[in-house]
Amino acid sequence: MSTPPLRLFFAIPCCPQLARDITDWRAQHAIDGKPVAPENLHMTLAFLGSQPRGQVEVLEALAASLEPNAFTLHLDRLARWKNGLLHLAPSKVPGALCDLEHDLRELLLTAGFTLETRPFKPHLTLARHCPKLPSAPTPTFDWPATEFTLYASENTAKGTRYRALGQWPLRPPAPA
Ligand code: ATP
Ligand code: MG
Repeated sequence: MSTPPLRLFFAIPCCPQLARDITDWRAQHAIDGKPVAPENLHMTLAFLGSQPRGQVEVLEALAASLEPNAFTLHLDRLARWKNGLLHLAPSKVPGALCDLEHDLRELLLTAGFTLETRPFKPHLTLARHCPKLPSAPTPTFDWPATEFTLYASENTAKGTRYRALGQWPLRPPAPA
């Protein structure tokens, strides 16, 4: 019997302390819509969709071949897209994040994966189906990114859960 496919994506995970800070801020404001669970806060790098399980090893090898640099994201924009997705974003995208997304994309395309063709817009989703942009003052959060992760997105009785299948470090800057 064949095993069911996995819904896969690469992302930068949000560490528990930052997730707490963000969800504490979110709880203090009138934000309608479906909130993203604290343990699910992340920034998607590449969405692969439904994939046979055998592709996980291919993706792990591909991720391990990258040598990305670490960076800090300054989340200083609160915005809502027309589809109701309320999110935080950096007004300045670090070069190391652009390089990581670009290099990962190139490797995935070369390996034959099909990816989203829209330009990369780095963001952390706070809530879905949000009817309007809240009038809350824009917060600022500093997010030191230290690794990236391959996740399987799974439907559970408690809602969507992301299962980490592999994690790779981002290289800290060399001491000056
Ligand atoms: P749910 O869809 O169950 O409400 P979710 O959106 O968090 O929860 P997934 O749909 O599995 O879970 O998505 C996982 C990640 O991939 C999310 O960051 C989501 O925004 C992103 N994603 C989903 N579909 C696409 C797509 N077609 N293109 C780009 N990114 C996508
Ligand atoms: Mg979804």
